[in-house]
Amino acid sequence: MKDKIVVALGGNALGKTPREQLELVKNTAKPIVDLIQHGHEVILAHGNGPQVGMINLAMSTASNSEAGTPEMPFPECGAMSQGYIGFHLQNAIREELLNRSMNVPVATVVTQVVVDKDDPAFQNPTKPIGAFYSEEEAKILQASKGYTMVEDAGRGWRRVVASPKPIDVAEKDTVSTLVNNGHVVITVGGGGIPVVREGNSLIGVPAVIDKDFASEKIAEILDADYLIILTAVEQVAINFGKENEEWLANLTTEQAAKYCDEGHFAPGSMLPKVQAAMAFAKSKPGRKALITSLEKAEEGIEGKTGTLITF
Ligand code: ADP
Ligand code: MG
Repeated sequence: MKDKIVVALGGNALGKTPREQLELVKNTAKPIVDLIQHGHEVILAHGNGPQVGMINLAMSTASNSEAGTPEMPFPECGAMSQGYIGFHLQNAIREELLNRSMNVPVATVVTQVVVDKDDPAFQNPTKPIGAFYSEEEAKILQASKGYTMVEDAGRGWRRVVASPKPIDVAEKDTVSTLVNNGHVVITVGGGGIPVVREGNSLIGVPAVIDKDFASEKIAEILDADYLIILTAVEQVAINFGKENEEWLANLTTEQAAKYCDEGHFAPGSMLPKVQAAMAFAKSKPGRKALITSLEKAEEGIEGKTGTLITF
């Protein structure tokens, strides 16, 4: 059966530096193009933690130095990361398609994801970004720029931003039109550029939307059949890293909810993936989600590995 599939790529698909990324995307492109070759419609999403961190750090270092470059707001850093990650991904996929004599257009959409300005996450920012500062510097930044600064595990002080939930995708009609016309689209990169609605305006906010939740949102909006989250592990485990560790091939949303409550999935890494998978599987009958590794994507789709989450 030909499915509409949203594939969310994790950090290991892109690496940590632009040079590393340029190499890694060649491999990343292969399982994606396998899916396209089998006739599936593929929409790609990806993370941007190291990339947006690097841009933000570089821009703030340059602006605090003698170079005195202008300050680059955080949402703009996110937009930059979508641009260069998309540049690498779309070229790698294009090349892999051409190598298989397939003529399929690929494009990246700079994507804004709407969040609620009253999302409770804004009251409790949790995502550390950018450089480490001394306590004194942190206090100055707090006073002068209104940043929330916290002490990060003994390593120094850092700015933290909120991680609100995605509520809508601003470019959904564009993405949908492209997908329906046979284009492979790279969208909601890094969880999307977080924006709030103010009348006719979309205003960028300094925040990080979890890419697993943003991928789930766009999968629902596009009426996808399948959400595939590709990460560094082949399956989801309970008692992860313990002696009684158990890898799971199948998971109902009900079981998953129980395991979430029991604390089997690490917050900020496996938990958002399982939560996104549950939300998608519950959103409409027949929808399913798969969590597996980039390397095992093909086998995962064939039902041979991975963790399949169904209602
Ligand atoms: P990504 O960049 O793909 O989002 P993350 O590092 O955020 O990757 O999350 C994936 C990681 O979650 C895995 O590599 C694994 O180390 C970790 N993890 C935490 N809890 C679990 C669990 N219960 N089962 C499997 N992996 C887990
Ligand atoms: Mg992650």
